[in-house]
Amino acid sequence: MRRGTFQWMKSVNKSIILNKIRTNGPISRAQIAKDTKITPPTVSSIVKELIEQEIVIESEVGESQGGRKPTMLMINSTNFYIVGVDAGPDTVDCVLADLSGTITERTSQQLKLPITNKQFLSVLKETIQRVIQSTTSNMEKVVGIGIAMHGVVNVETGTSIFAPNLSLSDIPIKAELEKEFGLTVKVENDARAMALGEEWFGNHGQVDSMLAVNLGRGVGAGVVIKGKLYHGAYDIAGEIGHMMMDMNGEICECGNRGCLQTLVSGPAIAHRAEKEIGLESITGEGVFHLATEGDEASAKLLHETGTYIGIGLTNLIHIFNPRKIVLSGGVTKAKQFILEPTQEAIKDRALTPQAKRTDVVITELGEDATILGAVALLLVELFDLE
Ligand SMILES: [Zn+2]
Repeated sequence: MRRGTFQWMKSVNKSIILNKIRTNGPISRAQIAKDTKITPPTVSSIVKELIEQEIVIESEVGESQGGRKPTMLMINSTNFYIVGVDAGPDTVDCVLADLSGTITERTSQQLKLPITNKQFLSVLKETIQRVIQSTTSNMEKVVGIGIAMHGVVNVETGTSIFAPNLSLSDIPIKAELEKEFGLTVKVENDARAMALGEEWFGNHGQVDSMLAVNLGRGVGAGVVIKGKLYHGAYDIAGEIGHMMMDMNGEICECGNRGCLQTLVSGPAIAHRAEKEIGLESITGEGVFHLATEGDEASAKLLHETGTYIGIGLTNLIHIFNPRKIVLSGGVTKAKQFILEPTQEAIKDRALTPQAKRTDVVITELGEDATILGAVALLLVELFDLE
């Protein structure tokens, strides 16, 4: 048996009880039985197993309903670890986190281009090795490794099919890392992992449909429906950076013209600033700094960027109608300039009064949204939610 495969999840009742404790804990055995309609003796015996396996602990004593005060149960979050990796295009960032998403170790390595598949896999192995070594706890406590990978990913095989900014293809990430570490490995596209990170750790409560959009060097999104990632028929659902906004627009790295990415990504903002306001060798961040210093042309450019984002999101609202849209990535650092015009554009253009009020927020997870998503890939596995 591979380490970290968690054989205890094989029974349906066990999975139901564990998830009841995860979502409602601290909770008593009696309450679990009542809510899940599983008989009290079955609840007791499964809870006994879960406590022996150290995934559940008894916590404080709860309120008495007349009679003895019940012992409360909760997930033993700090007893297990997950390795989360945000891989590419510029760096490989790696963390060790517990089951509540609290990061206890962190490391990062710059990627030097050009790079081969073999060199890329070596960087992955080195960074993962470093965070695993840094923990004093036993390897048995590591549940597995989650990888949020730049580019197009086959999640079944855990292969990176195409990583455009690294000019790599067909990297057998899952196979190589499982061989190296003997742990369960899950691989997902980075924008989709980010969406899962929002679902688990973003404090959004129960939303049955959510779109998480990354606005950075590239533009991508993840769609979460009833807690699950939507991949589409051929794994490209969420490639909203290549939604075409203007058939006569700038040429995109994908070869098409006028993609959303050519208007609102960090490099696109810099390019537009050069073209439209004559700023030389500027970065997207540079435009933001100028705007905060009171440069009106830069502020106007960012305002327009917000309008473009809002038009793109309105298109998505009309296709997918999410309850909530979460924005993250470097471009959202300029939220004071872009968020309002984004919301205005939706209000002006969406079809119905409810759609006009679609909730658009900036992530609370900062730059860790993606890497926490990589961690969440293993939580989905651990809690048997697939
Ligand atoms: Zn494109």
